[in-house]
Amino acid sequence: MHEGALREELVRVARSLFARGYSFGTAGNVSARCGDTILVTPTGSSMGTVRAEELAQVSLDGETIGAARPSKEAHFHLAIYRRRSDVGAVVHLHSTYAVALSCLKDLDRHDALPVFTPYFALRIRRLPVVRYLPPGDPELAAEIGALAGDTNALLLENHGPVTMGRDLADAAALAEELEEQAKLYFLLGERGRTLSPDEVRTLRDRFG
Ligand SMILES: [Zn+2]
Repeated sequence: MHEGALREELVRVARSLFARGYSFGTAGNVSARCGDTILVTPTGSSMGTVRAEELAQVSLDGETIGAARPSKEAHFHLAIYRRRSDVGAVVHLHSTYAVALSCLKDLDRHDALPVFTPYFALRIRRLPVVRYLPPGDPELAAEIGALAGDTNALLLENHGPVTMGRDLADAAALAEELEEQAKLYFLLGERGRTLSPDEVRTLRDRFG
């Protein structure tokens, strides 16, 4: 996609997430791959009002291009792009239920959410947990890069979700799916029937 169109698309997706309550205040950030750079929401910006010309541009090595300063969480977006050549966009939210999930004691660090629905089983195949590190810590980016190899979603402990997709629409859809599934988890509590490993396997065999 041409850079101008990509900027417009990124802003459209960020605003849409904000408008529907997935982001609030200045929380969350969205990025997209643009050649050998990324476009990312700027530091201190709101996903609800950010404009295309305000987006920051950063090389994959982390060098800022132009005047706009990237989100201080851009370093972990970069770690994902460097690790995964198939990823074209990354969405990071502080959406309420996924953040609540990230704050639970005794999380299954290999896969933090039980599978309640077929769509979730097919779209988010696993939700590994990245141990708590302060935002902006270089080690956080390294850990995220290390865990991003074989999953399209990560949960940052005591922080929130990160999803990655082939494009912006894909990454945003995963972020929404993850938030809704976390919400279900809290609504259902122990009453929920999760899909069995066999049922999940059958789904994946049938639908890929
Ligand atoms: Zn964050």
